[in-house]
Amino acid sequence: MARANRDGRRGGTRTTDGQAPARPASQPPHASVAQTGNGAGASSDGLQGARVGHLNQLRPEAEEEFAELVRRQLALIGEDPDREGLVRTPGRVARSFAWLTRGYTETPQSAVGEGVFAEAHDHMVMVRDIELYSLCEHHLLPFFGKAHIAYIPNGKIVGLSKLPRLVEVFARRLQVQERLTAQIAEAVEEVLAPRGVGVVIEAMHLCMMMRGVEKQNSKTITSALLGSFRDDAKTRDEFLRLAHARL
Ligand SMILES: [Zn+2]
Repeated sequence: MARANRDGRRGGTRTTDGQAPARPASQPPHASVAQTGNGAGASSDGLQGARVGHLNQLRPEAEEEFAELVRRQLALIGEDPDREGLVRTPGRVARSFAWLTRGYTETPQSAVGEGVFAEAHDHMVMVRDIELYSLCEHHLLPFFGKAHIAYIPNGKIVGLSKLPRLVEVFARRLQVQERLTAQIAEAVEEVLAPRGVGVVIEAMHLCMMMRGVEKQNSKTITSALLGSFRDDAKTRDEFLRLAHARL
C-alpha cells in the first residue's frame, strides 16, 4: 500500500493508491457539527455575506437566487424543472449547499471554544479515524474518508472532541485534499502551539470514482507534518505507523 511521502514542504504530500479496497463509510465516531462561530471571514459578496446568522442558512433572497440558478441548470441538462420530482429540488439544493459549506463561517478558535486546557503531558496525543466529508472544488463532487490527527503538547491540550470540529471547519468548504490536510495541521498549531502536529487524510473522490477515469477503488492519501513531526524522524515514524495501522 502506498505510503504518504515523508518529505516535502510543510510535509504536504499526496499519493493515490489504486490497490486499496473500497471500504464502506462506517459510523462516524464523532458526529460532530461545529455549532459555534462568529461569522468570521464573512465578506460582502457570495455565500458568506448571503448567510443568515453565522451558520448554515442563506438569507431568503440569496436562497431564492441560488434556487433559480439550479432551476436553470436542470433545464440546461435537458430536464423539466417543473415536473413533480424536481419542483422542490432547487430550493433543497440551495439549502444543502449552504449547509455543506458552513465551514466558511467558522474559525479554528470558534470551533474549539473553551476546549483548551493547560496540561503538562508531553507525549503524543492522537485521534484516529475522524470521519470526513468535503466537496472537491474542481467538480463540486464529494470526497470523503478519514482524518488522523496527532500532536505533542507544549503545555496545552485540547478536548478530544474538538479535533473533529477543527476538521469540520475546513472540510465544510470547497477543497482540495492537499490544502484541507495542511489547513487542519495549521489550525492545530494555531490553537495549541504544540511541539509538533501530524495530519493524515485518506479519502475517496467521487469525481474520480463516478466520472472520467472511474478508478473506483483508488484512495488518495495526504499528510502534513509540522514541528517535531517534520523534524524528528522518530516522532514522524511513530505517527505514520499509528496513522497507517489497521487497527
Ligand atoms: Zn474533483
